Amino acid sequence: GVLMASMTLEPHYDDDCVFCKILQGQIPSYTVYEDNVVKAFLDISQGTPGHTLVIPKTHVKDIFAYDADLAAAVFSRIPKIARAIQAADPTIAGMNILNNNGKVAYQSVFHSHIHLVPRYSDQDDFK
Ligand code: ADP
Repeated sequence: GVLMASMTLEPHYDDDCVFCKILQGQIPSYTVYEDNVVKAFLDISQGTPGHTLVIPKTHVKDIFAYDADLAAAVFSRIPKIARAIQAADPTIAGMNILNNNGKVAYQSVFHSHIHLVPRYSDQDDFK
């Protein structure tokens, strides 16, 4: 697809986007995983320990803006990243994987991202 091709050649950044600033190293993040398609980093507000965001390395606003190739590339990374997070702590017993699209759906950063929220065998208070 056009988006995937444009990212492979050169990513598109939005100057007003906090996650594009992370991608360019202009603001700090704690990287969990990175390859040519995605970056995964800890959410600044940890819903549970290890709460991670996975973003495409080019600016895509929300799910409605993906083409199929970029969607396949980004979402195909999720199981590997989920396993890596799980492997970091044997008490991780499950994981919520969430993606908010649009203000009405509680999206607050308009660079598409997938939340990986580890859930612990000893329970936690995160709803
Ligand atoms: P919500 O705020 O309702 O979770 P989103 O699904 O858009 O909406 O999630 C945006 C996420 O980005 C939030 O969980 C927020 O804590 C996180 N976030 C915002 N700024 C940063 C940052 N600089 N580094 C890491 N995470 C960030």
